[in-house]
Amino acid sequence: MPEKNIQQRLAETGALLEGHFLLSSGLHSNRYIQCAKLLMHPNHATWAGEQLAEKLQSAQIDMVVSPAIGGIVIGQEVAKALGLPHIFVEKENGVPTLRRGFTIETGAKAVIVEDVVTTGKSTREVIGVLQQAGAEVVACCAMVDRGGSENIAQPFHALAKFQIDVFTPENCPLCKSGVPLIKPGSRKPSVSAG
Ligand code: ZN
Repeated sequence: MPEKNIQQRLAETGALLEGHFLLSSGLHSNRYIQCAKLLMHPNHATWAGEQLAEKLQSAQIDMVVSPAIGGIVIGQEVAKALGLPHIFVEKENGVPTLRRGFTIETGAKAVIVEDVVTTGKSTREVIGVLQQAGAEVVACCAMVDRGGSENIAQPFHALAKFQIDVFTPENCPLCKSGVPLIKPGSRKPSVSAG
């Protein structure tokens, strides 16, 4: 039996939903992705980490760095597969910072690992922290690329790339065809504010 691919694993764990979703931005979408639903299963998390690590085999890397909180689980798995240390960047008063005694040596070669890259903003924030510390970002990777990799200058690897269509409520074709609107995280269809 062939090994399950990332799409099958995302669907099976409920990490990728198809339908009609109300996003926190107020926009509507046809798909919703929540990588934590896959990563909550250690066997899938380990598999995903090994898959990303394979894509990084040829790179010379000293450490793995991830943005908290979403990148921590997959970052740890990639680091485990590569036999490297893993640290994470978190926000302190809104500023991306290394805490907990984490340090980066000048000249260290780092790879950044995320669960999902939507706009690329959190990856770029980690790049900023690393460059400020004098490290070299040799590659960035994510389980899922939602298009944000286009905003990242470094070599980028992902296990899957998804286009997620978003609409304003006024222009939403799913609203027009009467598909019930779901607020992700809740089990009931949401009451649409229109
Ligand atoms: Zn809609």
